[in-house]
Amino acid sequence: MIKTKKRGDLIIISGPTCAGKATVIQKILENRPNVVCPISYTSRPMRKGEKDGVDYYFVTREEFEKKIENGDFLEYAKVRYGEYFGTPKKELEEILSSGKDVILEIDVQGAKQVKEKFPETILIFIMAPSMEELKRRIKARGAEKQIDQIIDRFQTAYREINEVYRYNYVVVNDQVENAVAKIEAILLSEKCRVDRIEELYVQNEEEFMHELMMDKDFDNTIRPIQ
Ligand code: 5GP
Repeated sequence: MIKTKKRGDLIIISGPTCAGKATVIQKILENRPNVVCPISYTSRPMRKGEKDGVDYYFVTREEFEKKIENGDFLEYAKVRYGEYFGTPKKELEEILSSGKDVILEIDVQGAKQVKEKFPETILIFIMAPSMEELKRRIKARGAEKQIDQIIDRFQTAYREINEVYRYNYVVVNDQVENAVAKIEAILLSEKCRVDRIEELYVQNEEEFMHELMMDKDFDNTIRPIQ
């Protein structure tokens, strides 16, 4: 009776450092085979344990700038320490056209660019329960020990949190399972939006009423409504 848009949804997840975005996204990808997270390009150096083509496509700044010139990115931004991060346009378009949903884990600048180009993009902001909790998580992760790097992370976190009003949804990541359940509920409800309807087929009303009157299973004596 209803034909809805087949194209996949584009979902952006942003949030401050250590808000738990990567863990939450990983769980969603495990639970939902119809959701894909394309690999971004970056000019930042590869960290220990990271793999090219898995965590990011690692390229030099010159290579990244060449790709900008070629128009290869849906969006890109200098996120930290002047290093570029960007989403490949062609791959993303192919996934969405195939009907799969795409989750992009990108920063607030990138989210703004995508929303301007594609207003139907669903923007989700993940928050840690408190700044104290963020500090605790950064210490526990121990990836950064230098105070200037930690200060930089918090400055970015404050800047990003102030952008939350640009987003459609905010999810507090107190427990991973709760955050995953909330995001899955958002994905599901987005599929039921009325603006996804492409065609609505309903039988002609007069014809339907006539058939109803003729239906032997009903007592079709019309009585005045009390
Ligand atoms: P990392 O911890 O990998 O150095 O930093 C990741 C940061 O870059 C996160 O804030 C993440 O949201 C952002 N990021 C990752 N990929 C992209 C991308 O393709 N575009 C943009 N704009 N930001 C990205």
